Amino acid sequence: MITVLKKGTSQAQIDHLISWLRSRNLDVHISHGENYTVLGLIGNTGNVDMELLGSLDIVESVKRVTEPFKQCNRQFQPEDTVITVGKAKIGGGNFAMIAGPCSVETEEQIIEVAEAVKAAGADFLRGGAFKPRTSPYDFQGLGAEGIRLLLEAKKATGLPIVTEIMNINALDLFADVDVIQVGARNMQNFDLLKELGKTNKPILLKRGLANTLKEFLMSAEYIMSEGNQQVILCERGIRTFDTYARNTLDLTAVPMLHELSHLPVIVDPSHATGKIRLIPPMAMAAVACGADGVMVEVHNDPIHALCDGAQSLKPEQFADLAKRMRIIREAIV
Ligand code: PEP
Ligand code: MN
Repeated sequence: MITVLKKGTSQAQIDHLISWLRSRNLDVHISHGENYTVLGLIGNTGNVDMELLGSLDIVESVKRVTEPFKQCNRQFQPEDTVITVGKAKIGGGNFAMIAGPCSVETEEQIIEVAEAVKAAGADFLRGGAFKPRTSPYDFQGLGAEGIRLLLEAKKATGLPIVTEIMNINALDLFADVDVIQVGARNMQNFDLLKELGKTNKPILLKRGLANTLKEFLMSAEYIMSEGNQQVILCERGIRTFDTYARNTLDLTAVPMLHELSHLPVIVDPSHATGKIRLIPPMAMAAVACGADGVMVEVHNDPIHALCDGAQSLKPEQFADLAKRMRIIREAIV
């Protein structure tokens, strides 16, 4: 349920109403807009008489959020969520570039790529240490050693790092990771989502291969309902009947998610397309349709990459793309 307060309501009046709502065993999420304050009520809202609440002098309106996703709902919080990590910000008019290899392979590789993407203007370094591979015979990632190497690259460049978690038992290894990624295959691993909801780290949640936007937002809700409000949604392509590209990039998801939710929305054109030549046009299209960021795979030696070489840009290709994305971004904001 949401309660919109009238313009000019004093802080003392807001505090008074909040303590009354809390005495009804509700959690209250406060969202201050330019012209109004919205109180999002979480819990058993059956404890509150909507008529009574709506009749108070300071209350403009009381509404039930009819969608099953509540805390990530735009109605619940009209302003965009902004995720801040060091100097980087995602959402609310801030655009971020996340770049790096599919997998961390060696110290030389990750540091070389980190330095190159930083020079091209990337805000975050990505790299998988725990890899969800389709085949058990393929490279599975370096695990804990991969995270150690990412932290070395962070030390060398100052770039915050993004890396995927597959099993909650590995959470301790993520203590110094800046953004924890939940991959497409784990989007509905609800136990994992709930545990990540108890952490204070931003979570980059990727859309599942065959999941609707409602299911995607319900997964964000799993994280938020445990207390962690810092969720970044990532569209990474879905399965359709076409097989030319690795997946079909659903760019409609960007404006649609922005309408439904206040969470930042980024796009991964690498996993969406699987082909180097398709990545720049789709990355630019993502910027043009309002994405709050892009995540692109970059490798210093794609031909010898242990994972996803066919969709990894070389550093100079990324630098060129970054320049073009900046131009498009400037043109649309
Ligand atoms: C990745 O980003 O490394 C990855 C495995 O992507 P996805 O979960 O989207 O397949
Ligand atoms: Mn990959």
